[in-house]
Amino acid sequence: MLYKLFILRKKSGSTLLTNKKSMLYCGKQTNPSGFVCLLYFRRYDIMGLLNEIAEKLLKNFLSLKKDDWIEWIAQPNDWQDDCDKFNSCYFIVKQMPKYPQHPRCRCRLKKIAEPIPNITAKATCDIRKFTGYIFSDKYDDGKKELFESWGYTIEDSGYLQQLYISQAIQKYCDGQYQYVGVNDHSAKISITITLTNQNGVEQHINTIWKLGQKGTIDLIAPYSGHNY
Ligand SMILES: [Zn+2]
Repeated sequence: MLYKLFILRKKSGSTLLTNKKSMLYCGKQTNPSGFVCLLYFRRYDIMGLLNEIAEKLLKNFLSLKKDDWIEWIAQPNDWQDDCDKFNSCYFIVKQMPKYPQHPRCRCRLKKIAEPIPNITAKATCDIRKFTGYIFSDKYDDGKKELFESWGYTIEDSGYLQQLYISQAIQKYCDGQYQYVGVNDHSAKISITITLTNQNGVEQHINTIWKLGQKGTIDLIAPYSGHNY
């Protein structure tokens, strides 16, 4: 189908194409005559090209299986989107952000090998998440009493730090995590940490981790609820 399009020359020398229904900015095209002129434009040439790009992205995505791992490669931009927060992050396909993130998203997914704990993936956990938060007297929110009722005190902070690190990196690499969105700077995942209390009963604690670049995770919240 043919559509009539007008080329309007702007003072800047760039050109606008319009068919009243849609307006397309076409950069610095030159119009030798310098006059408003009429041309015929096959609308589906552009639509076809856009569809082709979208399909290529989607096909690339659909060829991935849910247990495959990918590295998210973001195109740096100034747009108000979350794409940059995922740059160089490793996700298992079944727990990754929506892809593409938005129309005209130019992020790429690169298939990678499953990460290996402490080789191609690493977990970090600041001991102050326990000494200065869980077991701190500053917060009267019951966390300290809860952990103490399970048989852990501030003296166990180093033990808990190592236990969180070793369980979290193994579970992340096994794909046993949930993608839970973003904060101002990064993607977040939740991981269930299993603690055995003094009576031998297991507590399953929800924890939140920041997903960093190249298989790194860092503890944000050491406790966000638990199940028996
Ligand atoms: Zn994107």
